Amino acid sequence: MSTYTGNRGLDINEPLLFEIGNLERTGVEIPEIEDFENALGGLERSGPIGTPGLSEPETMRHFTRLSRKNFAIDMGIFPLGSCTMKHNPRLNEKMARIPGLSDIHPLQPFSTVQGSLGVMKELADWLTGLTGMPAVALSPKAGANGELCGLMAIRAALEDTGNAREFVLIPESAHGTNPATAALCGYKVKSIPVNDKGRVDLDAFLRELDEMGETIAAIMLTNPNTCGLFESDIIKIADAVHNIGAYFYCDGANFNAIVGKIRPGDLGIDAMHINLHKTFSTPHGGGGPGSGPVVFSEALAPFVPVPYLVADGEKLSLKEALDGTDKAFGRLTAFHGQMGMYIRALSYIMSHGEDGLRQVAEDAVLNANYILEHLKDVMTPSFDGPCMHEALFDDRFLKGTGVETLDFAKAMIDEGFHPMTMYFPLVVHGAILIEPTETESKRTLDQFIAALRDLAKAAREGDVERFTKAPHLAPMKRLDETAAARNPVLRWRES
Ligand SMILES: *Cc1c(COP(=O)(O)O)cnc(C)c1O
Repeated sequence: MSTYTGNRGLDINEPLLFEIGNLERTGVEIPEIEDFENALGGLERSGPIGTPGLSEPETMRHFTRLSRKNFAIDMGIFPLGSCTMKHNPRLNEKMARIPGLSDIHPLQPFSTVQGSLGVMKELADWLTGLTGMPAVALSPKAGANGELCGLMAIRAALEDTGNAREFVLIPESAHGTNPATAALCGYKVKSIPVNDKGRVDLDAFLRELDEMGETIAAIMLTNPNTCGLFESDIIKIADAVHNIGAYFYCDGANFNAIVGKIRPGDLGIDAMHINLHKTFSTPHGGGGPGSGPVVFSEALAPFVPVPYLVADGEKLSLKEALDGTDKAFGRLTAFHGQMGMYIRALSYIMSHGEDGLRQVAEDAVLNANYILEHLKDVMTPSFDGPCMHEALFDDRFLKGTGVETLDFAKAMIDEGFHPMTMYFPLVVHGAILIEPTETESKRTLDQFIAALRDLAKAAREGDVERFTKAPHLAPMKRLDETAAARNPVLRWRES
């Protein structure tokens, strides 16, 4: 059904700000300026600024209407595998807004920000404790930035021995940021195959290690991996890597599946980033900046970038610059990282406690297996057996239906669900990677499962239109995402 206005019920069609704004309108009244002495020496602007003008209620409505077109974790389950979109507890937000923590500046004297430095110290202690690793760099600002920090430290450690080496080994199932990071650090990437159980092919890996020996700088391995499976040979892999003097980088984006259960340090890992916006529930994507602290082993601890937290009795400060005796590779970011995220993550950690965090991992794994069990007869799990925190399916159940993974995902939008991760990992065909996280209730999971079962049935029964034309009910239909990525139009121009 189409409407006269283009609105759908109370879901209101909203043009761009530039299309509805008008310089004659304004939300504020600025007094005319009397004669004044111009100090700009003829450099002042002569034309209008060109900002769009709206009245105050129009401004409120514009942004509120746009926000309703967005999907958010506060509106429904966001089952993005690998991304870990979990509820952001309001307690975290309340803590981050305490004026003594929020109204400060990174250049304030240390004596005036002892509380904030205390938060950083406490968070650092939790992260090193939970991972069983002695050192941490808090400053990286995302998982990918953490990978860069970790590999730069590995490179610095190898350079310290006089040989930075050439290659980084990365399994086929890895997140794209892993090879990108290795390349950015000047390494060539050697891909290692995944076996039919969804894990690193140990024999192929050991063969590679034998052949390439001391040209290998590091392995970058995700555990649990992006197939949602625990790498069961991880200790053997760590030993083999250390035997040739190389380092073990672990992509810890999926730490939420094992937090409180296993300490990565005990597995032989040398460096691992922790996405606070995944494991520790700080806002994600458009909701807030990421934060990706990296924990380090004893061997890499001397190469951790500044700033360092320094405790002199009760007094805390940051060592900001290298003094010639340090082996650190330098500094990764301006200032000390995402303070607001440290507070939120610490708030989450402390409200759960150690036993509560263990339960986070257990419930995340339980929820994913609940989904796997209740969908495995109508969809096709890629690997046998239980999963960790995310359930991986491929598109075999859609074979011969004329429906593809993308169509299936678009049809989920009509049912009020944000689609899961699609076509990743690349090691299975038409991947459907679902991560419910521990924060979803059984009621939500049951509703999600019922909807997916109904969609799988409709696809099998030949209701192809429901899929290939989906989403039928969203304000925007199929967008040409490839064209948008290749030829982005980032500036509005009057046509
Ligand atoms: C999310 C993720 C990353 C990257 O983290 P960002 O914070 O998005 O930069 C890396 N590896 C894996 C497995 C991830 O899931």
